[in-house]
Amino acid sequence: MRAIVLHAPHDLRIEPMPAPAPGPDEVTVRMGAGGICGSDLHYFHQGGFGTVRLMQPMVLGHEVAGTVAALGANVTSVAVGDRVAVNPSRPCETCEYCRRGLRNQCLDMRFYGSAMRFPHMQGAFREEMTIPAAQAVKVGAAVDLGLAALCEPFAVALHAVAQAGPLDGRTVLVSGCGPIGCLVIAAAKLAGAAAIVATDITPEPLAIASRLGATRCVDVSGGTDALADLGQDKGQVDAALECSGNARALAGAIGLVRPRGTLVLVGLGGDQPLPMNTIVAKELAIKGSFRFDEEFARAARLISDGAVDLRPLLTGSLPIEEAEAAFALASDRKRAMKVQFRFGD
Ligand code: ZN
Repeated sequence: MRAIVLHAPHDLRIEPMPAPAPGPDEVTVRMGAGGICGSDLHYFHQGGFGTVRLMQPMVLGHEVAGTVAALGANVTSVAVGDRVAVNPSRPCETCEYCRRGLRNQCLDMRFYGSAMRFPHMQGAFREEMTIPAAQAVKVGAAVDLGLAALCEPFAVALHAVAQAGPLDGRTVLVSGCGPIGCLVIAAAKLAGAAAIVATDITPEPLAIASRLGATRCVDVSGGTDALADLGQDKGQVDAALECSGNARALAGAIGLVRPRGTLVLVGLGGDQPLPMNTIVAKELAIKGSFRFDEEFARAARLISDGAVDLRPLLTGSLPIEEAEAAFALASDRKRAMKVQFRFGD
């Protein structure tokens, strides 16, 4: 049994990593699919992001799904053979934020494949992994494991859309159509948005955004003139979800949101200048959105029930032996949206 371990930027190694037998409240999952996330790419290319740095070898990956291979004595939530999506977050359940129901703000969060704490939380790009049963969320018996592995990023999108407030019948802007932007579009459509305007600087992601529910796709690489109608009368957009982390996209969205509208920041973009006068004068609500909580279980239900069709996102599936190629592919927005590993070939 093997894992994909990052030792340093561009130093990925496939190493033996047998899963221990499950403890009483654990299960062993035989992995089927694992998606490469933007944070995995940051570790791979730069050794981290912001103040988070790779300090020791770390198994990457936190978007995985598989099949239950073994059970601890106390486990009743799943059975051997069940398909499960792995929830990568393990909040402490005891800190101030966990007690207040803000588990994604946990002071002692353990999140797979994250160098935020030291020793790092090892990740889930492994052929087999033993995890707490509470983190193995059952999905439908017939669900493709590649789709099940989208539960984590889809939960991020559901959480972001929840921050925007009711979207039924509203006009929504989504800037940045990477995997999270596209999943936000799918979640906004599910929430009943009447119009979903998607922007990006590359045409290929916009084509996928359209298949996930965007009603109008605008390539803003040459400027934002095509969005001028949305800026009329102080703005026509009820809610904007900024998924690019780009300063110009952020400022552009602020110009298009109507007075008392909401701007949700999903993309991470470091320090950005803000047009404060516009925010003040239009009385905009600006909210951040980070990870997810109960949305993971909801994502698993929606994907299991076929309430959303996320297949257009899946643009590549490679065996772990081709880890370097998979990371290169996932870094190319013209050729790839969500690239996944398939395990157990
Ligand atoms: Zn906590």
